[in-house]
Amino acid sequence: MSAEADHVYDVVIVGAGSGGYACALRAAQLGLTVALVERDKLGGTCLHRGCIPTKALLHAAEVADVARDGARFGVQSSVSGIDMPTVLSYQGSVVSRLYKGLQGLVNSAGIDFVEGSAQVTSPTTVTVGERVLQGRNLVIATGSTSRTIPGVTVGGRVLSSDEALQADSVPGSVIVLGGGVIGVEFASAWRSLGAEVTILEALPRLVAAEDPAISKQLTRAFTRRGIKVRTDTRVTGVTQDDSSVTVEIEGADPLTADVLLVAVGRGPVTAGLGLEEIGVVTDRGFVLTDDHLRTNLPHVYAVGDIVPGLQLAHRGFAHGIFVAEQIAGLSPAPVSDTTIPRVTYCDPEIASVGLTEAQARESDSGVTTYEYSLGGNGKSQILGTQGFVKLVKSSTGQVVGVHMIGARMGEQIGEAQLIVGWEGTPEDVAPLIHAHPTQNEALGEAHLALAGKPLHAHA
Ligand code: NAD
Repeated sequence: MSAEADHVYDVVIVGAGSGGYACALRAAQLGLTVALVERDKLGGTCLHRGCIPTKALLHAAEVADVARDGARFGVQSSVSGIDMPTVLSYQGSVVSRLYKGLQGLVNSAGIDFVEGSAQVTSPTTVTVGERVLQGRNLVIATGSTSRTIPGVTVGGRVLSSDEALQADSVPGSVIVLGGGVIGVEFASAWRSLGAEVTILEALPRLVAAEDPAISKQLTRAFTRRGIKVRTDTRVTGVTQDDSSVTVEIEGADPLTADVLLVAVGRGPVTAGLGLEEIGVVTDRGFVLTDDHLRTNLPHVYAVGDIVPGLQLAHRGFAHGIFVAEQIAGLSPAPVSDTTIPRVTYCDPEIASVGLTEAQARESDSGVTTYEYSLGGNGKSQILGTQGFVKLVKSSTGQVVGVHMIGARMGEQIGEAQLIVGWEGTPEDVAPLIHAHPTQNEALGEAHLALAGKPLHAHA
C-alpha cells in the first residue's frame, strides 16, 4: 500500500483469482512493479468457492462411500450419519491453510495488494475508492460467476454452487439443473452423502463437452449409483415454498425436491467495470482478445474465465504467467486450449486432453481409436472400479486425444497431456515402462495396443 499518487506501476491487475495472482507473482519475479486489486479475497473463486472447497467436499463424499462399501472388502464399516458442520470445517481448514500460504507468497513478492472494488477509468488508470492506480499495462482478470436461466432465480431452496458449498446439512432430495461439470460433481457428492439426486440436462447427454463414450459410461455408472439422469430435458420455470421446490419441465410432469442446484454455466464478471467506456471490445460480457491475450487497446490484456474458451483455473494460471512474461519482454508460447487437461472429479472421475473422436474426424478422415477397458487393469480391479482409456490417433500417427473414466483416473492426466502436448505416437509411448500394478498401466497398455502389441488386452 505504498504507492504515491504519481507512482506508475509496470502492471495493474484487476482481480486476484487464479489468473490475476499468477500474473502478479510472475510479473514480480521478473522484476516488474505490480498492483493487484481485489474486492473479495485473494485466491478468488477457485480457492474460496470453487476447485478447492468442492474437491474437499468430494473427498468427504469418497470417504463416505468407502465406509459404506467396507463390507465388500471384508472390513466391517458403515455410515451412521454425515456431520456437515464438520465437513464444512474440514473444507474450511483446507481453504484457510492455502489462503495463508498464498497471502505469504504475494506479500513476500513485494506486490501491492489493494483491497477494494476497481473501476477502469482509462487504459492506464484504475480507481479503487480514493486511490488512483496508474499502470503502464493493465490486466483484467475478474473471472466468472454462476449463471441462471430465465424463470429460475437463485435464492431460498434454489442454490448456485456458492450456496450449495455452504449447506450445513445434506438435503433429502436434490434436483440438479445442468449435467455439465458442476452438475455432475455436486450430484456425485450429494449422492455419496445420502441424498436422492436427479439431474436434468437439456442436451442429449451428460458432460456434453466430453467424448460421447465418456458420457455413456458416466450415465451408466451414475444410474448404478442411484442417480437419476434425465437428458433432453428442458426446465422452463421453478416455484418454491417453505418445504420444497418444484421444477417445471417442458413436455413432462413437474418434479419436486428439497433443493434445486442451478448449474447451467458461468458468465463473465465484467459488468460495471468500465471496460466498454474505455473502448475495450467485449461480446456478451466476455473480453475479446487475440491469441496473445491482448484486447483491442494497446497494453490492455485479459486473462482467465473472461476470455472465451475453457473456464478452468489452470488455464487462468497459464494465461496470467503468459501475459506477465509478455509484458516483461519475453517471448512465451501462447496458451492453446487444445492441450489444456480437463478433470471432472465426480465418481467415476473423468480426465481428458486434446480432441474428442468427433472433433478429430472433422478435419481428418483417417482417425483411428482404441479403448482399453479398466477390466484388464490390476489396480483398477483392486479398487473395484470400471471404466476405460480411449485414445484418438490422427492419420499421421500422433495421439491427438486421450479420454479416461474410472475411479482416480484424474491422476493419470499428467502423462496423457505430455503425450498429446508433445505430439507423441503410440510407438513413442509403447517402450516406456509403466509401473505394475498402477492405474497408470492402463494408459501404457492402451498405447501398446495401438502400437500393435497389446499385452493385457483382447485384440
Ligand atoms: P457447463 O457448461 O459445464 O454445463 C452446463 C450444462 O447445463 C450444459 O450441459 C447445458 O446444456 C445445461 N443447461 C443449460 N440450460 C439448461 C436448461 N434450461 N435445462 C437443462 N439443462 C440446461 O457449466 P457448469 O457445469 O455450470 O460449469 C461452469 C464452468 O466451470 C465450466 O466451464 C466448467 O468447466 C467449470 N468448472 C470446472 C470444474 C473442473 O474442472 N473440475 C469444476 C467446476 C466448474
